[in-house]
Order: sequence, then C-alpha cells, then structure tokens
Amino acid sequence: MSQVNPDNKEHRLPSPISNPENIDFLAAAQENQLLLKYCNSCKEAHYYPRTICPHCGSDDTTWVKSNGHGEIYSYTVMRRGVAVPFAMAYVRLQEGISMLTHLTNCDFDSIRIGQKVKVVFQETEDGQKTHLFEPI
Ligand SMILES: [Zn+2]
Repeated sequence: MSQVNPDNKEHRLPSPISNPENIDFLAAAQENQLLLKYCNSCKEAHYYPRTICPHCGSDDTTWVKSNGHGEIYSYTVMRRGVAVPFAMAYVRLQEGISMLTHLTNCDFDSIRIGQKVKVVFQETEDGQKTHLFEPI
C-alpha cells in the first residue's frame, strides 16, 4: 500500500468511496463545492451525507452549499510509520457540524485548536477531488 505520490513529497489522499447517499456530494467536490445535507424537518445540517436525518429520523433532507469556513476542533499530525507526515483534524463548520478531514498548506507545528480554516479541494490517489482544509 503506497502512502506517497511518485514525487515522494506529499501525503497521498485516499479516494472517497461512492454510494447512493453521497454521489451528489462527491460530484460537487469535482466542482470545488462543499455540500451538506440539511433536514427540512428539524432544521439541522449533518455530515456525512445521509438520506435519513440522524437528528430526527426524517427523510425530508436536501443539499445545501457550505460556505466552507470553520475552525479546528481537534487535530493530530501523523509522523511515525508513514512515508510523508500528514495532519488530520475535526473541523467544526460555521453551519454547526464537524467533519473529519485532512489539513493542507500549513506548517504542522503551527496548527492550533480554534484556528480558522477554509475548504480547498485536491485530487486523491485515483484523480477524484476531495475536500480538505487550510488555515485562513
Ligand atoms: Zn432532522
């Protein structure tokens, strides 16, 4: 299992796996848009994308565009046992949900909880784009 790009400089992002509930989410990522599922019944957003709202059980859910801004809730930097260090974080979006994601375009030693971040999109190992976050 390879963890690095051929140039051996960047962590290689794993490709997202498509399913009927996230196919629109993944298609939007190819257009550099972050979509969230929003429940019209309880007025809450959720992630990961699901047809049935995890808060109230309603199937009256729809897609909304995230503004892509949030802050780091928690993070870790993987340095051991990997060819190239990488950082992962829980990012809390302004829409009120948290997502597990990679961090990019940052000095791993300067990452801080509460740091403001915004979404960016990068290609994964199979060429699909996926979301990750960088400091503002
Ligand atoms: Zn709901």
